[in-house]
Amino acid sequence: MSEKYFPLERSALEKLAEKYPTPFYIYDEKAIIENVRRIKTAFSVFPSYKNYFAVKALPNPYVLKILAAEGFGADCSSYPELLLAEMAGMKGEELMFSSNETPASEYAAARKMGAVINLDDFSHIEFLEKSLINAGGMPELISMRYNPGPLKEGNAIIGRPEEAKYGFMREQILRGYSLLKEKGVKRFALHTMVASNELSIPYHIETARMLFELAVEIKEKTGVCLEFVNLGGGVGIPYEPEQTAVDYHTLAFGIQKTYNEIIKPSGLDPLGIRTEWGRTVTGPYGWLVTRAIHKKDIYRKYIAVDACMADLMRPGLYGAYHHITIPGRENEPLSEIYDVVGSLCENNDKFAVQRNLPEIDAASQGGSGDFVIFHDAGAHGRSMGFNYNGKLRCGELLLRADSHASQNGSVIQIRRPETVEDYFATLDIPGVEKFC
Ligand SMILES: *Cc1c(COP(=O)(O)O)cnc(C)c1O
Repeated sequence: MSEKYFPLERSALEKLAEKYPTPFYIYDEKAIIENVRRIKTAFSVFPSYKNYFAVKALPNPYVLKILAAEGFGADCSSYPELLLAEMAGMKGEELMFSSNETPASEYAAARKMGAVINLDDFSHIEFLEKSLINAGGMPELISMRYNPGPLKEGNAIIGRPEEAKYGFMREQILRGYSLLKEKGVKRFALHTMVASNELSIPYHIETARMLFELAVEIKEKTGVCLEFVNLGGGVGIPYEPEQTAVDYHTLAFGIQKTYNEIIKPSGLDPLGIRTEWGRTVTGPYGWLVTRAIHKKDIYRKYIAVDACMADLMRPGLYGAYHHITIPGRENEPLSEIYDVVGSLCENNDKFAVQRNLPEIDAASQGGSGDFVIFHDAGAHGRSMGFNYNGKLRCGELLLRADSHASQNGSVIQIRRPETVEDYFATLDIPGVEKFC
């Protein structure tokens, strides 16, 4: 079985599960902070570098607070995400509002908070102006999202840019800067997001090159000097044990080299570099902890856990791989082939299909059942959950930075599990309380 890391031994986990029954998510604060510092160190070659953490990846204010303390901002795609970031102490231009198909009310809210508004379409320039008539008018700083279409290859999750609904075409974005300038906007930024979960460093460097070249063209054709470019999110993580993590230094060095080549001679230096990484910031440092509750032997062998696709939908949605370990059985042979499944009435509610695993005990056989841990669930995990089939989503725990040495130290609950009352809370029916 692979060496993929989990911060607690089985005994510590047993103890924790007495207090917080499975399933739950747990995040490792110390590992997140160390990772953030590695990112900051690598990108310190760009003096004003900032990552706006993509809130959708892990929308919990406790975690956002940890990131805010390290100087990260937030990339928000909706009003509630802006509120979450604000709750964590992020303010004004530390907030990037990268929404699409945005309602007027959300533009007004973002403007009021002083967030950097990132427009997704040419038609939104007029729409934004109208939306802000009674909300302070056009902001001083505006960003626009570029969709390179056929000029850039996409990847498996986000698809080909040509088929993606996001952003401005090249000619539109050039006209966009001119129009914004006419409307009194003073400061400008450029954004793109062309891939998701991409591990190739050259791919990300090419994205930076594409934006740098466009920044130069914008200057030449419209006279607008950009304040910063935002390279978006999309840095991948090694979900599979044989994959290798992106080396931040190599990436930053490659971007710097391209910057020196294109931006330095153009007169645009210093141009700010921003990113919107979510997955690579917290993904590897969060786990979904479940227990095996049933075992089934039909045409295939199944292990059913106490969570389901409503808690972690990536495997069901994209066939995504999440590595599984069974605490206490790390050294046992992978003698079984299981489908690891949840309880949803959907046959794609499978966390793993035909996976080699050690023999697993289920609670239904007597005893409490083995723990089944899903790795790399710290981003786009709990946050993608839903309530289909009346499934109540699990809670979230934080292993605090102080607790590593003893392995039994402080774990706090940062979101409780959902209850039936939560499920019924939006039903406006007299007497509904008595069913809770
Ligand atoms: C999803 C998303 C991100 C974050 O992507 P990661 O893969 O988590 O890094 C950043 N920006 C935008 C616009 C997104 O849609």
